[in-house]
Amino acid sequence: MLKLMIVVPCYNEQQVLRETTARLTAMLDRLIAAKKVDVARILYVDDGSRDHTWDLITELSNTFAAVEGLKLAHNVGHQQALWAGLEYAATHADAIVSIDADLQDDVEAIPQMMEYYHQGIDVVFGVRRERKTDTFFKKHTAQAFYRLMQAMGGQVVYNHADFRLMSRRALQALMTFPERNLFLRGMVASLGFPTAIVLYDRHERFAGESKYPLRKMLSFALDGITSFSVRPLQCITYLGLLFIVIALAAIVYGLLSYAEGKAIPGWTSLLVSVWFIGGAILLACGIIGEYVGKIYKEVKRRPRYFIEQTTKLK
Ligand code: UDP
Ligand code: MG
Repeated sequence: MLKLMIVVPCYNEQQVLRETTARLTAMLDRLIAAKKVDVARILYVDDGSRDHTWDLITELSNTFAAVEGLKLAHNVGHQQALWAGLEYAATHADAIVSIDADLQDDVEAIPQMMEYYHQGIDVVFGVRRERKTDTFFKKHTAQAFYRLMQAMGGQVVYNHADFRLMSRRALQALMTFPERNLFLRGMVASLGFPTAIVLYDRHERFAGESKYPLRKMLSFALDGITSFSVRPLQCITYLGLLFIVIALAAIVYGLLSYAEGKAIPGWTSLLVSVWFIGGAILLACGIIGEYVGKIYKEVKRRPRYFIEQTTKLK
């Protein structure tokens, strides 16, 4: 019996949940009719909303057999709320889809994700085709973020947010990450099970306004980079080395000018020490950074590996 669960984090989403439920249940009914899934559930996670979101979820759950609700005691943010829902789903479903409440992600991509699931794919990333509906600002900041993230060695799937399908085993692997700083799209991309991509067009928010103001977006981006990479720390070491090389060049240049008698007294020593001390300090910071990076990786206590298949092991 194949059970599909759709996990939807909701923060002040009273204006959209009725429509979201209508579209999701219609799509799920079709999946069941086509025998692609046997049982389907929608799990709404109320992330400490301050409007009537929870009342609405309770009402929907009374009306629709497929709807289940989970209310968090206070607002913990999109990533943590999603984690809460996934943690429940990991033991209650075989295939799990996470999607935003606001219908920006295309519900019709879910049947395509299920096709991949039936082919044995563990993680299917929803990737948006174009950013037509985003503002100029959001589009460019988001793209700059993906580039920076890639340059810093972080694993991200380009233009993939948190709309994806995971098999139970992939989700259970994810649940073994004990860290508190969540950057789910990166963590999932690093799992390593068979993956696929489904392209979709991102729509406008159905109603209400974005819960991700610039401030949250920036801190999310920073979180993404710092929870995947210690490369910024390594950059300090390289910068220190570069400064020391410059200092050596400055020493040669300073001594030559001094020998030619072109230098004002005191200039040579000052020039050389400024570059050299600067370089030495940066190098020292970088070395400390290398250790901090190691400590950082240790305290995260991430799992070392996941087994995908075995033969004959008892
Ligand atoms: N969300 C949440 N907790 C928060 C902020 C947002 O659970 O603190 C949910 C929100 O209800 C939505 C999803 O996260 O389902 C994405 O938020 P939103 O659509 O506002 O972000 P945007 O699409 O504008 O980046
Ligand atoms: Mg949205």
